[in-house]
Amino acid sequence: MTTPSPSPADNPARLARAVLAQQRLPQARAAFRSCRLCHHLCGVNRLQGELGKCKAGPAARVYQARVETGDELELIPAFAIAFSGCDLRCSFCNVHLPSWNPSLGEEFDPVSLGTRAAAALAAGAKSVMILGGEPTIHLPSVLQLVAALPAAARLIWKTNGHGTHDARRLLDGLFDVWLVDAKFGNDTCAAAVGAAPGYVRAVRENLLWARSHSELMVRHLVVPGHVECCWRPVAAWLAEYLPGVKVSLRLGYWPAAHSADPRLRQFLSDREMADAQQLAVNHQLNLVP
Ligand code: SF4
Repeated sequence: MTTPSPSPADNPARLARAVLAQQRLPQARAAFRSCRLCHHLCGVNRLQGELGKCKAGPAARVYQARVETGDELELIPAFAIAFSGCDLRCSFCNVHLPSWNPSLGEEFDPVSLGTRAAAALAAGAKSVMILGGEPTIHLPSVLQLVAALPAAARLIWKTNGHGTHDARRLLDGLFDVWLVDAKFGNDTCAAAVGAAPGYVRAVRENLLWARSHSELMVRHLVVPGHVECCWRPVAAWLAEYLPGVKVSLRLGYWPAAHSADPRLRQFLSDREMADAQQLAVNHQLNLVP
């Protein structure tokens, strides 16, 4: 007689995460008194109305919550919950204002989102993905949401990799998969295109941490004019420090009409696509569809 495999709902780690999330809520709220959740390290008191670079206050809003099918195959369909507001300002962001402006979208309601996520999972969704904007800037709400999600849900943390140690210790053990955007390969581009000086050290720190604390998938959106300066060093670093890690190379860049940089208002050229793919082959990266 074979022993039945435990269902995801019986997984003690998943059952424990709701408790963990609730226990950490006071710490997460306290972090808003001198916010250092991301590497901008603003130190502002968000509970008293001070605003840092993300412009987010203490209350989160959600600009989208729906089943998505445009992510990596092993994750979809995913019920994706997108918080409004971001700590970066990537000129190529295709969501743009709803993503950047924390005052847009619906009022955050964890119970209702938990119910909608449960319905999506029952209808065949494989996972629940929490993203933004950037969800790191709303950690107290994220913890409330995790506590309200079904215990059986496979949880994906989709992040820009700019969070700090303070953010990671609040997130530790809550997510099955970290899906990390490695956006820039050097700090000049990170500062000029993403308003994120010092991004490279931050994202590397997050990638190494995520590799040892959860499943990790690294995503890189290839951006026109940034194959050599950004993708090449990202690919080389992944090959050296995270060999075998799952890499999602995104070649479907959509021109950012709002961008001041004319290169970012174009599609990727065939040459750039071919070069980006060749770099992945040269570095023997573990590409996932
Ligand atoms: S989340 Fe980042 S950008 Fe926003 S206030 Fe905190 S440190 Fe500043």
